[in-house]
Amino acid sequence: MTIAKLPHETAVPAKPRSLSRLGARYKEIALMSPRLKHPKAYFNWLRANWELLLGTSDVKARPLKITFDPTNVCQLRCPLCPTGLEVQDREQGHARLPMFEKLLGELGDHLFFVDFFNWGEPLLNTHIEDFVRLAASRKIITRISTSLSLPLTDERIERIVASGLNEIVVSLDGASNATYGLYRRRGNFDLVFGNLRRLIEAKRRLGLKRPLVTWQLLVFGFNEHEIPRAEAMAVDIGVEKLIFLPAFLDEGRYPMPESDKSLVATWKPKNPLYQIENASGNDATPRSRCGWHYMSAAVNWDGTVASCCTTFSKQDDFGTIGPSGESCGPAERACQPGVRKVPNASHHGLSQVSESPSDSLHHGQPVGMDPAAV
Ligand code: SF4
Repeated sequence: MTIAKLPHETAVPAKPRSLSRLGARYKEIALMSPRLKHPKAYFNWLRANWELLLGTSDVKARPLKITFDPTNVCQLRCPLCPTGLEVQDREQGHARLPMFEKLLGELGDHLFFVDFFNWGEPLLNTHIEDFVRLAASRKIITRISTSLSLPLTDERIERIVASGLNEIVVSLDGASNATYGLYRRRGNFDLVFGNLRRLIEAKRRLGLKRPLVTWQLLVFGFNEHEIPRAEAMAVDIGVEKLIFLPAFLDEGRYPMPESDKSLVATWKPKNPLYQIENASGNDATPRSRCGWHYMSAAVNWDGTVASCCTTFSKQDDFGTIGPSGESCGPAERACQPGVRKVPNASHHGLSQVSESPSDSLHHGQPVGMDPAAV
């Protein structure tokens, strides 16, 4: 089992990677058993890095990575998440396969990674395995991050592990019922841990090397004493990778009840290793531009293209993947996956693409909150 005690991955924008961080990243990728792509994918990788180096504002390289949101519905109510806080301005729904097929038709040869999660619980999209299978057939490394706090049949678990998924990250922030639900509100520790064990058993039963099963534990003041217990439990059930990450305790980021603000203010861990200000890549150095746009794109469940993987609001959309997979919208050139304008001024310098796409362009299936339907 790999245990990452030092926080090495955070939700904050990272500085250009040092060689050691790059090395760590490629070790992580190696754990996910990548397959060789067509040479044009590597040429595109060089082009993206060259454009990043030059700081060009008219990006010709195609994205190396897509953050694709299968759904913005979630059964939990985590108080630091806009979905948990119910402050999302986007209609709730699940992505549908044809839109993703079209997207892969345009980008699949160049893509190395697809993350199937952003603003909801990906397993609530009951077709998520089909999305993964499709991406895997294009030799794309796929990853899901899930709370696993939902009832799953044995058949569903087998479908997930047999889909070709490279990594499944399970967000389990604690090692007991007493702490887990303090942040993962409405979550059930026993259900999550039981599902985690069943995932590992299914993978063994089917004789599969993938997906890498990762337990991710956000460290708060109320659960840091459980780190040794989590390590022992992970070894006991055969978790392959266990990571401890600092939580981004920004109670002013989204509208939050005053009672929660006071509570969150008490959640800072005592151990400096798990305080966000000490996390790798997080310091006060001002940055003139963000490198994310040179390599990546984010697509919402409804086919809208977000300006950044950290923005969820409709007002930040670049445009929409059209019904036939074409890019369209108010800033047509900027929203095309292959040709992206890069906002140079700041992470949110989006004045040239500020108009939102029409609601009538939704391609997904609006849904209610019904985890029992999984
Ligand atoms: S499980 Fe994830 S998507 Fe759901 S409320 Fe928590 S942080 Fe948000």
